[in-house]
Amino acid sequence: MKITFLIAFAALFCSFTHADDLQILRHWMSAATVSDEAVNAYTLDSCFQITPIPDAIFSRMQGKSYKKNCTVPRSSLRYLRVLHRNVEGKAQLGEIVCNESIAADLLDIFRQLYQKGYKIERITLIDDYNADDETSMRANNTSCFNFRVVSGTTKLSKHAQGLAIDINPLYNPYIHLNNGKVEPTTGKPYATNRAKLRNTKVPIIDANDLCYKLFIQHGFKWGGAWRTVKDYQHFEK
Ligand SMILES: [Zn+2]
Repeated sequence: MKITFLIAFAALFCSFTHADDLQILRHWMSAATVSDEAVNAYTLDSCFQITPIPDAIFSRMQGKSYKKNCTVPRSSLRYLRVLHRNVEGKAQLGEIVCNESIAADLLDIFRQLYQKGYKIERITLIDDYNADDETSMRANNTSCFNFRVVSGTTKLSKHAQGLAIDINPLYNPYIHLNNGKVEPTTGKPYATNRAKLRNTKVPIIDANDLCYKLFIQHGFKWGGAWRTVKDYQHFEK
């Protein structure tokens, strides 16, 4: 009798949490985590979608990633819903703004990364960090579109067109080889001895990494292969 009651209670509890997770998925609450059961019920296709930039997202971007002098029309950008495995292995909701020309590539890459259990800490819009790259990188936030110049120059970055993406930027920092500067500054523990870090299960991007392989297969270039800087987090087309 007692056991039947416990089972019934557990089933009821599960169906409640399941319903909550479905609400999170329906409203696409970025950075929230959900159960695998809820993902299955909602379907993987619904979790990986490309749309034009919705009004609510466009207002979130104003004066941040989409600055007043932005030369890229809204119509050239796309909003992506993606799912990823966070560092604890839980299914987490992500969102990306990118150029329409790489939207299908990113959707395919992130779907494969999710299905293969690749760990990404967070994928949310850089606008949540006031479009400040250093703050977003310190939060290990994966992001793409941001109308800005290349760090330390006046040249527009590929991120300004939504044609570049930074993956797990804390674990994969940007290193200026001429002066040893590391971005984010908190990424220093991940700047050297990277091969050793891989053995500690930190998702380090190198030539053996799944993320690297998928981006290269899709025709992207990797910042970790550059000579004057090592931008391990960066892929661009
Ligand atoms: Zn980058």
